[in-house]
Amino acid sequence: MTDDLYKLTLTEAVRFAGENSAAPLLDALRDRVAAVNPKINAILRFDPKRVIQADPRETVSTGLNGVPVAIKDNICIDGVETTCASKILKGHIPPYHAAVIQKILASGGTLFGQCNMDEFAFGSSSETSAYGLVRNPWNTECVPGGSSGGSAAAVASDMAFAALGSDTGGSIRQPAAFCGVVGLKPTYGRVSRYGLIAFGSSFDQIGPLTKNVEDAALLMNVIAGHDPMDSTSVNVPVPDYVKGLKRDVKGLRIGLPEEFFIEGLDGEIEKSVRQAAETLKRLGAEIKTIQLPHTPQSVAVYYIVAVAEASSNLGRFDGVRYGFRADTRDLKDMYLQTREQGFGAEAKRRILLGTFVLSSGYYDAYYLKGQKVRTLIRHDFAKAFEEVDLILSPTAPTAAFKIGEKTDPLSMYLSDIFTIPANLAGVPAISLPCGVTSEGLPIGLQLMGRHFEEETLLRAAYTFEKEIQLKQKPQVVSAG
Ligand code: GLN
Repeated sequence: MTDDLYKLTLTEAVRFAGENSAAPLLDALRDRVAAVNPKINAILRFDPKRVIQADPRETVSTGLNGVPVAIKDNICIDGVETTCASKILKGHIPPYHAAVIQKILASGGTLFGQCNMDEFAFGSSSETSAYGLVRNPWNTECVPGGSSGGSAAAVASDMAFAALGSDTGGSIRQPAAFCGVVGLKPTYGRVSRYGLIAFGSSFDQIGPLTKNVEDAALLMNVIAGHDPMDSTSVNVPVPDYVKGLKRDVKGLRIGLPEEFFIEGLDGEIEKSVRQAAETLKRLGAEIKTIQLPHTPQSVAVYYIVAVAEASSNLGRFDGVRYGFRADTRDLKDMYLQTREQGFGAEAKRRILLGTFVLSSGYYDAYYLKGQKVRTLIRHDFAKAFEEVDLILSPTAPTAAFKIGEKTDPLSMYLSDIFTIPANLAGVPAISLPCGVTSEGLPIGLQLMGRHFEEETLLRAAYTFEKEIQLKQKPQVVSAG
């Protein structure tokens, strides 16, 4: 047992640490990271000698019993380099903890390793990191998805009991699907964004990537809740998500949106997802076809509004306050050279696109119009949720693709087609494994719910997971 401690789920690890201590868990992870990370590069930074924990003078609950959580590299940790996997933030050491970090530490958790990602969370493959790409633990020739690819791959390969990611257009759910783990994007406003380095401020949410649904509920108990430091965080009661888990979907009305079962959706994925719907039906859910008519516009709207917000958010990285500064004596040249040398190609593309859609003369045609269509998409969801309690779809149109396979930005952007609508509408959504392709890659099932109804999502996901009991594990794991 002790040799295999790294295999524990978060819930099991917390129990183990309560009965024994967290020290053997940390040792097991250290060895596991040393053995596996060189093959997949999921963990960007980790100091085996330094485990971050709450200040001993602060009151700490025993909740997590010293168990560590891995953190995406865009969530600020006081005193620890945090770079968004970008060269421009190399050497940036935040002077404060993000709200979610404070919450983990206050719950008795520890921090152990920061996860690689697409630069500034721009991407769906984790290939744009300035610190080397991440590989998928199921097949190291494939991408792990993105942008939280490091978080998903770390959890899938047992280098972390659980991780935090962030999701602006699918960055928790799509890598969860590609790596065969559970990923939850909470309702916009459910989890504080304070200390999350912003990409698209009206979309971004932090959420858990875990080995199973129960662990996602456990981590949500730790991170959810109102925070006055984030003006978009909402003050509504947070239920006990773990207590809310039960094996029951009787009477739940689940809708399959017509617009999500389209050309371009891989046949094996469609089959697996439709089977999942059948399974839920057998367990007592009512399944029906629904419409979300503006879905075809989602990708276009997202790549206008999200890049507009990104271009504005990234304006602050100019070599003056944060991280990297180009070596030149002229001030204007310093701004230009810092941004020229510091940002990667995809970041530059988004800054240019975003600046364009916000510029005078184009604002009405692009940004304003984009916002109007976003409202129509929100209305689609509101209407659908009058008829059903949950919406079921594939998480991504394909399983993990090969490293280097998607070379034009548009084909990369289209891989977010099923995850983006939930961000546009601000509704919560979860991805969980529902099968494996004939090539041995995991398939993700997505469930979307009403605002602040994460509990219903988790309950349905838990019921489904318990019923199908998937056994397959990634190769890196079975090879040890
Ligand atoms: N892949 C999407 C993008 O590139 C979503 C990224 C994210 O959610 N951070 O924008």
